[in-house]
Amino acid sequence: GSVFANVVQAPEDPILGVTVAYNKDLSPLKVNLGVGAYRTEEGKPLVLNVVKNAEQSLINDPSRFKEYLPITGLAEFNKLSAKLIFGADSPAIQENRVATVQCLSGTGSLRVGGEFLAKHYHERSIYIPVPTWGNHPKVFMMAGLKPMSYRYYDPSTRGLDFQGLVEDLSAAPEGSIVLLHACAHNPTGVDPTPEQWEQIRQLLRARSLLPFFDSAYQGFASGSLDKDAHSVRLFVADGGELLMAQSYAKNMGLYGERVGALSIVCKSADVAGKVESQLKLVIRPMYSNPPLHGASIVATILRSPELYHEWTVELKAMADRIISMRQELFNALQAKGTPGDWSHIIKQIGMFTFTGLNKEQVAFMTREYHIYMTSDGRISMAGLNSKNLPQLADAIHAAVT
Ligand code: PLP
Repeated sequence: GSVFANVVQAPEDPILGVTVAYNKDLSPLKVNLGVGAYRTEEGKPLVLNVVKNAEQSLINDPSRFKEYLPITGLAEFNKLSAKLIFGADSPAIQENRVATVQCLSGTGSLRVGGEFLAKHYHERSIYIPVPTWGNHPKVFMMAGLKPMSYRYYDPSTRGLDFQGLVEDLSAAPEGSIVLLHACAHNPTGVDPTPEQWEQIRQLLRARSLLPFFDSAYQGFASGSLDKDAHSVRLFVADGGELLMAQSYAKNMGLYGERVGALSIVCKSADVAGKVESQLKLVIRPMYSNPPLHGASIVATILRSPELYHEWTVELKAMADRIISMRQELFNALQAKGTPGDWSHIIKQIGMFTFTGLNKEQVAFMTREYHIYMTSDGRISMAGLNSKNLPQLADAIHAAVT
């Protein structure tokens, strides 16, 4: 018999498992609104033109190589990534207080940051919002941290439970780590207002709570890279310390290239240097060094004013298409007279709508309408188009009546 005969079958991942089920469905009507990946109006995956252009110039570059990158990745990519999220005029960058390392997309950045904290920070508790991206608690637990939760979403208002958030973070032990979605909170699409962000900042700083930002959607929420970085820059501006996990999966459409960055903003250049030296010790035994291609694409785009501009235009177009799908879905439900208040569809921002549909309703929609989505009622607006939108509206209508 096999030495692995006792291995039990593991369940599918709650998010990626939706795609597994979708792939098994033979119906031509099937619609995948599970995974957070952008689709065009034609329902196709999109490679940005600016990415194609950058790849072409990489291929044409006679000095191109396929050597190993350093443990910390492509240095220019790291510099440009920090500038992108913190702003070109960020005092932390000018004062050399930021340690940035290239990581395997957002997930890898969270994991490396988590392991660094588990090794070098005095507090293990990391407070994560309820609900959150399903991978957060697992990533931090595997990193050696202790996932705790804070209230974030109020199902009765389908908005932010700001009072619950303040109460829970006020009660967290001093020094605890707090995971914050920089913008376009996943799965709820509900973000604090700028005033609420300022209150959150004051609360965290007053209680010496350490912010760990997850930025997976910069530019995707509003269409503006700067606007979507507002929360983060507010925290950097006060001179305090924080961690930042950045992903280029969504905003450059580089999902499979696995390109992202972890930045740790420190109080001084001296500390940042030591922090970077320890990040290398986290990374080296984990995967040695990160992949070259995605980081080269990003650096090519960010360093060129022309390509950067082209990117912002394409990014805005993706964000705008998602926003228009929100309006169309809302209009379709209004037109059908679907019972209930659906205004949250147009109020929420980013890639997802947290519909408020329950598990049974989701199962019904999958069974009867071949619509695939996560069981918490989250739909990826990026997977919607004018062809499949009526089918979704019919399914929602049937599920709630
Ligand atoms: N964080 C959040 C909130 C996300 O929604 C995602 C992806 O869905 C990620 C991080 C990580 O994505 P990736 O590892 O593909 O960059």
